[in-house]
Amino acid sequence: MGHGRIWNWLCIITLVIIILSPLPYEWSGIGQAARGLSVEISRQPDGTLASSPKAEALHRLGLPLRLQSLLLYPLLLISFQLGGGGLGLRRWLEGRIPGKARASSVRLPGIWRELLVVMLFVLVLDIALALIYLPLDSYRGLVLARQFGLSTQTGPGWAGDWIKNLLLALVIDGLVWTGFYALLRLFPCRWPIPAGALLMLAAAAFTLLAPVLITPLFYQVRPLDDQAVRARILALAERAGMSVDEVYVIDASVKTTAANAYFTGFGGAQRIVLYDTQLSGYTPDQVEVVLAHEMGHWTYHHVLLGLLGAGAAAWIGLFGLRWLLDRNWRRLGLRGPADVAGLPYLLAVVAVLTTLSLPFQNALSRYGERQADCFALRLSQRPQAFVELFERLAVQNLAVVDAPAWEKRVFYTHPPIAERIKMAETWETE
Ligand SMILES: [Zn+2]
Repeated sequence: MGHGRIWNWLCIITLVIIILSPLPYEWSGIGQAARGLSVEISRQPDGTLASSPKAEALHRLGLPLRLQSLLLYPLLLISFQLGGGGLGLRRWLEGRIPGKARASSVRLPGIWRELLVVMLFVLVLDIALALIYLPLDSYRGLVLARQFGLSTQTGPGWAGDWIKNLLLALVIDGLVWTGFYALLRLFPCRWPIPAGALLMLAAAAFTLLAPVLITPLFYQVRPLDDQAVRARILALAERAGMSVDEVYVIDASVKTTAANAYFTGFGGAQRIVLYDTQLSGYTPDQVEVVLAHEMGHWTYHHVLLGLLGAGAAAWIGLFGLRWLLDRNWRRLGLRGPADVAGLPYLLAVVAVLTTLSLPFQNALSRYGERQADCFALRLSQRPQAFVELFERLAVQNLAVVDAPAWEKRVFYTHPPIAERIKMAETWETE
């Protein structure tokens, strides 16, 4: 019991730190001073790029925020588990659901009752975590983003998105974890095999459905209607030998001043999506380079490869989880591996494994981005527009142009802007 007490205290301390953590960032005064800082990037005499003072300031807050999340989230979950929180929550839920333990007119058969407990456990945990992270999320998404002029959202607008995100998480996590524990009961030994297959199917379905079902919950999606830009894109696609008949634009400007574009889907359901902020103020040549880059992702099947790679890694991870659960369920006080009271432990393990895999994952991502950049230069033959595009993006998105090697390895999904510009500058037009 003594150990339980220590973990309880650790859990409470971690919880308080997470809830109060926006305060030191706010007290640092960095955010309040941001308004007066320049957004212009500069070139040193030897030609290397230097970040804008405003981007540097944002980075000084952004990096500790990131590191803090990576460390404290698993610590909160594991201390909750070892302090007996998982067992307590499961028992409390069971006490509230009529079943064999109590004489009641409504009686659910064993497995359904257990799965109902699983689902409620997931929902309660999700809601509790969302509330614990609400101060930090609103500081980051609203206060900080406004101090740096990156957000165009109002408080109620942000709150609406927060609620939508929470509801989505409840639906997705509820389905995923209830399915997971159902498989654990149905196939006590071989569950990682069907679980991995279902996980891959679900991820593929999510990738295909998200642009149609989820993006419209947050943005207005419309086909690109600028005829001049459209004609250029179709010509570009034809040169690349692709059949791009539509490019979509989302009204990101109602939430952010940052510019972006992305490619998603596979197998005939591909889509290129542009933020409207990536259109206004950019020259047609620069927009063409952006689209050529996205067509690079299309040509190299990056989304499909990413899905297959992540799916394969997750599948191996499931066998790892089985090994851990089989070894540790007794020590955690669980009734068996399929006891939902061990979910916080599983979530902590998944979070730590995901963090440890970041350098590997991001190395692959940066490789793909470099491929798409080379493709964009080859297809558009516009290295000058490429350089101007990324200089402008660094200014608009308050991106630091470069970072220390360790930070690139752990966090960068894209090569730093300085590297991308350098590549275009040394590019020989064919
Ligand atoms: Zn890309």
